Amino acid sequence: MKKIGFNKIIIFQKEVFMNCIFCNIVNGSIPSEKIYEDEDFIAILDINPISKGHLLIIPKRHCVNIMDMDDEILKKTAVLLKKLCGLLTKALNVTGINLIQNNGKDAGQIIFHSHFHLIPRRPEDGIKIGMEHSKYKEGELQEYAALLRKSL
Ligand code: AMP
Ligand code: ZN
Repeated sequence: MKKIGFNKIIIFQKEVFMNCIFCNIVNGSIPSEKIYEDEDFIAILDINPISKGHLLIIPKRHCVNIMDMDDEILKKTAVLLKKLCGLLTKALNVTGINLIQNNGKDAGQIIFHSHFHLIPRRPEDGIKIGMEHSKYKEGELQEYAALLRKSL
């Protein structure tokens, strides 16, 4: 495999950040409605909300998906999710919240800078976030369980 120099890696990383919508929102070159900020995160209103008040938690440091996230940042994400669920409940009187995080194109990720959706729900809002459930064939449930346990 061809080796690439350290400088090239830095240039490549810079290009990733420059082309990343959420990096540009974090650094202020793309405007957003920022609701919350601390040293590690911003939370903004999603520009095309699934429901009114739909928030995105965005880690400031570029990371592609959940597997790419630093463990400490991920722990802080959980605490922030809880805090902002509280905010939505208090400020907007919502009666439910869906937490969604898409990893990879096949899971519907369109912005490849890891982020978490908080989607406010209200009684009979008609929003359908559910996925259709399927069934395992005979023995398949155990097969998948074994496959996963083996690789833990
Ligand atoms: P995902 O499918 O998880 O990658 O979702 C990306 C989300 O980012 C979508 O819900 C978009 O509506 C939202 N989005 C894209 N551009 C912007 C923007 N400039 N400001 C706020 N939200 C955005
Ligand atoms: Zn980014």
